[in-house]
Amino acid sequence: MKKEDTPPMPEPRDKPLFPAFTLAARLSQDHLSPDACYQCRKCSCGCPLTFAMDLLPHQVIQLALLGQEEKVLASNTIWVCSSCETCTTRCPNGIDIAGVMDWFKEQAVTQKKAVPQPEVAAFHRFFLESIRAGQGRVAEAQLLRRFTFFKMRRKLDVRELRENMKLGWQLMKRGRMRLLGSPAPGGQREIQEILKLIKS
Ligand code: SF4
Ligand code: SF4
Repeated sequence: MKKEDTPPMPEPRDKPLFPAFTLAARLSQDHLSPDACYQCRKCSCGCPLTFAMDLLPHQVIQLALLGQEEKVLASNTIWVCSSCETCTTRCPNGIDIAGVMDWFKEQAVTQKKAVPQPEVAAFHRFFLESIRAGQGRVAEAQLLRRFTFFKMRRKLDVRELRENMKLGWQLMKRGRMRLLGSPAPGGQREIQEILKLIKS
């Protein structure tokens, strides 16, 4: 064969040829492989929050199997999911669907994706910061105050604010919510270790 007949070398790809394999491998590394899913939909039928989701839980698993990471990361489902684990309990194939939702949440934060539900992402962040500041305990009143200000800056809803204040007062009267949090009595070193692991 003459030199000019030699076919050109293909350009290197910046994206993998088989994204499904790559995504499945990353999920498997964290023991979350959805390979066994046969789309029975038991997860979606038991989920109490499907009314607010743009993708149903079984669709998230299917998209994960197809390597459609961007579609899942752009959906509000991963943020609407409350990690109640009903889906995980109902799955006949032992797939940790709630864990998969959490995994995608982590990916969205790590990859700095736009979050369709910024209030949920903010609540997660305030919650973790509250645990860090309270050395293992959540200071509920401070957490709610921060969250309320965050929501008010975005959109002031006077009626909701009034209802929340009433509810907060009732909770405080019954000793269910304290103005100031107190540090956890023991295990503070363990908490710091866990927080370090979360950061790394
Ligand atoms: S319950 Fe399990 S097997 Fe059925 S669709 Fe959901 S993830 Fe798949
Ligand atoms: S963990 Fe999330 S997806 Fe699963 S049932 Fe609960 S809210 Fe629905």
